[in-house]
Amino acid sequence: MKKKIEQIKEEVIKCTKCELSETRTNSVPGKGNFKSDVIFVGEAPGKNEDEKGEPFIGIAGKKLSSALENAGVSRDDIYITNIVKCRPPSNRIPKTNERETCQEYLKQEISIIKPKIICVLGNTVFNSILGGSEIMKYRGKVAQKDKQLYFISLHPAATIYNQKLVDVFKKDIKKLFKITRELKNDKKIKIDIEYTP
Ligand code: URA
Ligand code: SF4
Repeated sequence: MKKKIEQIKEEVIKCTKCELSETRTNSVPGKGNFKSDVIFVGEAPGKNEDEKGEPFIGIAGKKLSSALENAGVSRDDIYITNIVKCRPPSNRIPKTNERETCQEYLKQEISIIKPKIICVLGNTVFNSILGGSEIMKYRGKVAQKDKQLYFISLHPAATIYNQKLVDVFKKDIKKLFKITRELKNDKKIKIDIEYTP
């Protein structure tokens, strides 16, 4: 199993399937525990991530780490990735064709790790994976699509200058891990949004 995640990582590092490969410094493959019950999905690498080739190592990453710590979870316990693996110039929102091209990697990561729940970080990710919008209306909720569970939350970058949102994000992440424990104990959880095919 480890080898397969390693293979995706190698492919991402070499990938030239979309135009973001022309402007990146490094691709940023997913990172973390491939036996995790939870995968966190962000939007795209930023400047720090592009320089180091690792996801969520800048300010947004610090916000994520502290929300995890607050929920009693270590970064090493979870798996973190992005919908696009290369930094868009000037941190613009990734284009539809870039998201679609890169989503193949995310799909493969999900099919190998088989998380109990996927944490959607912010509106762009919500839109890409679940076709959603209005993140503030849907954050904190659980969705189910094609038998996969999703937990919808904010992007940690949204909390950088907003203490109220820091608290909201922390509350969400605590709830996410409460749900994850319940899923591990085979408890029935409440699904707020069902996507029917
Ligand atoms: N923001 C993201 O969405 N992903 C990262 O990896 C870093 C910041
Ligand atoms: Fe390949 Fe994704 Fe990078 Fe585009 S963003 S070059 S599809 S790894």
